[in-house]
Amino acid sequence: MVKEQVERRGIADVRVLEAMRKVPRHLFVDPVLAGRAYEDAPLPIGEGQTISQPYMVAVMTAALSLQGGERVLEIGTGSGYQAAVLAELAGQVYSIERIPALADRAQGTLRRLGYDNVTIRVGDGSMGWPEVAPFEAIVVTAGAPCVPPPLVEQLQVGGRLVIPVGSPHAQTLRRVLRKEDGVDQEELVGCVFVRLVGEHGWQGE
Ligand code: SAH
Repeated sequence: MVKEQVERRGIADVRVLEAMRKVPRHLFVDPVLAGRAYEDAPLPIGEGQTISQPYMVAVMTAALSLQGGERVLEIGTGSGYQAAVLAELAGQVYSIERIPALADRAQGTLRRLGYDNVTIRVGDGSMGWPEVAPFEAIVVTAGAPCVPPPLVEQLQVGGRLVIPVGSPHAQTLRRVLRKEDGVDQEELVGCVFVRLVGEHGWQGE
């Protein structure tokens, strides 16, 4: 998976490649889908949600430029797979999921695998997690209509926010760099994520 889908498409960050080699993706999906866990595609994880395509996990993770030791916030825990990859690369990972059943399952999976540097809570991640802010990196794994202002506020100066922004059906992955006096923004690649539902996301189910 890493060689064919990630390395060959230009992801060169060796720490990201190493982390993705290490995390057992098949344990983050339903056992009936385990045989497809290393395919070049997102997969359903229940509740109408998906575990992201491996390549997209790699692109987002690489864009965060993690060196080790950082405090990272993830919005959209889902299966917990992206959180596990982040946990391999950073110091402390905080992850917010709006659907309790998914948060519970991800928590169980991560605990069984020994990821004790991931803290999950249920809630609207578009508001961020002010109690444990600021963060050196924030990744949103659901598509948003705009960049949620609370997430930019909770970024440390020099911090990176990676987020798909666009319509419910197609987005562009955006990287926001927090500076002393504002932000720099950069567009990375086109992508399709499930919707970010919340105060600074899409409204309703
Ligand atoms: N990172 C996940 C992919 C999750 S898909 C993985 O590795 O498996 C996106 C997730 O975002 C879904 O589980 C969805 O329920 C969740 N989500 C959508 N809006 C949210 C919000 N406002 N706050 C927190 N989670 C949200």
